[in-house]
Amino acid sequence: MNERILDADVGIVGAGPGGMAAAVELARAGLRVLVLDEGARPGGQIFRQLPAGAAGGKIAEPPSHHHGHALLQQFGAGAITVRSQAVVWNAQPGRLWFEQEGASWLLRCQRIVLAPGAYDRCIPFPGWTLPGVITAGAAQVMVRGFGIRPGQRALVAGTGPLLLPTVTALLAAGVRVVAALEAAPRLAALKALPGVFGNGARLREAFWYARQLLQRGVRLQWSSAMFACEGDGVVRRAVIGKVDRHGRPRRETARTVDVDVVCAGFGLVPSIELGQLLGCAIARTDVRGGWCVTVDEVQRTSVPSVLAVGEICGIGGGEVAMAEGRLAASAVLADLRGGEVPAALRARVRSERKAADAMLRAFPPLPGLYELADAPTIVCRCEDVPLAKVREAAELHGRDARGIKMGCRAGMGPCQARICGPSLQAMACGDGRVPMDAPVVQVPVKAVSVGTMLAAPPG
Ligand SMILES: Cc1cc2nc3c(=O)[nH]c(=O)nc-3n(C[C@H](O)[C@H](O)[C@H](O)COP(=O)(O)OP(=O)(O)OC[C@H]3O[C@@H](n4cnc5c(N)ncnc54)[C@H](O)[C@@H]3O)c2cc1C
Repeated sequence: MNERILDADVGIVGAGPGGMAAAVELARAGLRVLVLDEGARPGGQIFRQLPAGAAGGKIAEPPSHHHGHALLQQFGAGAITVRSQAVVWNAQPGRLWFEQEGASWLLRCQRIVLAPGAYDRCIPFPGWTLPGVITAGAAQVMVRGFGIRPGQRALVAGTGPLLLPTVTALLAAGVRVVAALEAAPRLAALKALPGVFGNGARLREAFWYARQLLQRGVRLQWSSAMFACEGDGVVRRAVIGKVDRHGRPRRETARTVDVDVVCAGFGLVPSIELGQLLGCAIARTDVRGGWCVTVDEVQRTSVPSVLAVGEICGIGGGEVAMAEGRLAASAVLADLRGGEVPAALRARVRSERKAADAMLRAFPPLPGLYELADAPTIVCRCEDVPLAKVREAAELHGRDARGIKMGCRAGMGPCQARICGPSLQAMACGDGRVPMDAPVVQVPVKAVSVGTMLAAPPG
């Protein structure tokens, strides 16, 4: 018997809202559930918890987060085996290989539920590689996951609903937010209204954020963006100004603000690598962040024993992830025990997705934002490739992802194109509307030691 091989009925990747909701329902029904998450504590991105015993002030949260607290409690109280700081690096149907505390493990299970979430979309601009320039998601991870204050004077800029929680997290950490810039025009807020008004929770959330900003004297500046960051080894200033309705900088409006931290948020990209590795079909859904794992009406992927929930199926937020987690659990139970998936669970997912889509449609990553970078701007920060070289490579080898990679190594460093990949082809073509090719995935999907791979228990 190999002690590094575990068995469960269902293996879940990700202890965010999607994974936790699925785990709670499956455990309630008596199935053996094992959840793997690379984080130190459950919660995922939205319900991120400080490390046990860590100091950190209380951060005000919107009303919808009460569902998250209830879910965390149920998750903690359920008969669920959780492996934290467990990085899943390889997968086959019925098999998940992971590294935990330097050891190599295999989980064998009848069903896999993928709930690995998303990552920040990056759009390069001059100065974005300066220390002190971070993504909006990173700012939240620092404040809410580690109790770290990222700076004293912050600029928050980009587009999409995630800018608001970033501002409130920074304010709660005692950071002064000198400007909050939304590239979309004010009209976008009106376009988002059908999604907000059709969904009580989102309406309450929108009002809550508006009140938070008002009370703290932070005004969201519409049709505005950060053009560049400047500094001598660390960020000291940001050049900001107005953009047109396509997001193109109106350079005549440029002005400078003094800052020591800049949080740039351009939306999220689904984390689909494990789905691809398992052979699940993927499709591009631009409104939901690009390439997503395709699922049927009960969250089954094209691989019979694999289901997917939350951001991996398209960006949608915590409420969508929880609803999909519960639906997937019900589908697993129907498969393994027989019975029907309740229609109410499907209806809930449809309604949450509809509201989320309306919101996302109002805040697309505007094509003009891809014009912020100039020739020397680094596009691939792992391999230090500037925009000029990316364009040269595209000219010589073709404008597809493969041609660009072959020509200049952009996207071939340790992040495996997670950072530059979604914008690489748009940057190469000088046209923000150019979509990315389907990402290429290979083992390991996360950085683990060679020792871990060599010691991997055989499947
Ligand atoms: C950095 C960041 C911050 C965000 N902050 C907010 C916010 O404040 N408010 C908001 O409304 N939305 C926020 N979001 C959006 C968020 O993605 C969703 O609202 C929600 O958390 C999605 O739930 P999920 O279950 O799909 O995934 P997540 O909550 O992202 O959970 C996925 C989990 O899977 C784990 N995981 C991923 N890959 C692996 C692997 N290979 N091995 C092991 N574990 C793995 C991760 O550690 C994570 O805990 C944030 C997103 C990001 C990327």
